[in-house]
Amino acid sequence: MKIDIITIFPEMFEGPLNISILKRARERGIVEINIHNLRDYTTDKHRSVDDYPYGGGSGMVMKPEPIFRCVRTIKEENTEVILLTPQGEVYNQKIAEELSKKKHLIFICGRYEGIDERVRNIVTREISIGDYILSGGELPALVILDSIVRLLPGVVGDPNSLKEESFQGGLLEYPQYTRPREFEGMEVPEVLLSGNHEKIRRWRRKEALKRTLLKRPDLLEKANLTEEDYILLKELEEELGKEVKYGFNYPKCGKGIDEK
Ligand code: SAM
Repeated sequence: MKIDIITIFPEMFEGPLNISILKRARERGIVEINIHNLRDYTTDKHRSVDDYPYGGGSGMVMKPEPIFRCVRTIKEENTEVILLTPQGEVYNQKIAEELSKKKHLIFICGRYEGIDERVRNIVTREISIGDYILSGGELPALVILDSIVRLLPGVVGDPNSLKEESFQGGLLEYPQYTRPREFEGMEVPEVLLSGNHEKIRRWRRKEALKRTLLKRPDLLEKANLTEEDYILLKELEEELGKEVKYGFNYPKCGKGIDEK
């Protein structure tokens, strides 16, 4: 996979691209990441990338010409050209999976008050990383980059660890423990020490359902639940009783317990 990033602050990428998973993925040739300084695509002696907004108003707007020039220089056939903007679709794991299957991505990082509207004509997708305003598109680009690269085959040592992560199966991940077995009076759940793989699997699934139910019931409504999940949720309903803040809305997703 090839990823090109267009920015006026190339130095913001130096640290993150040179540690841990992103560094390894680049070194192994799984992903090629190129950072393009937008100022290199200007033609005036001041290397200007911004100008005053037509119609007045505060702040500056990024000029279209250098962005068009840069995208046209680096674009290939079937390139996904992504504009980072708070006005885009809100990023999630499903989009990460979709993007991880593409051959070539370009990220355009905005700055100032945003970009000249005409840039949208060369963009194929607009993405926001959440309903808040950052000073630039560099951090969103890095967030998206990191989440995509870890999905590429050969990047994460044990591919099973990806399958079990939060959001991957539509649920939050189950609780994890490591040594020591007892820490300041807090014990590791007995079942994890039992060596019984089936019991451990069932416990983890139930804990994942419990967490999702208590913390993110909205996810449960969209998750693909199995027959076993409904049995586990029924058990949780009895065990948790009134503890569930948002109500038991899981039967809305497909087959409810009563319909089985
Ligand atoms: N005035 C713009 C608006 O209201 O849509 C926001 C401009 S923001 C200060 C500057 C740049 O930061 C944007 O062009 C965009 O590239 C990036 N940015 C800010 N917040 C973002 C978010 N939540 N998701 C993605 N990019 C964001």
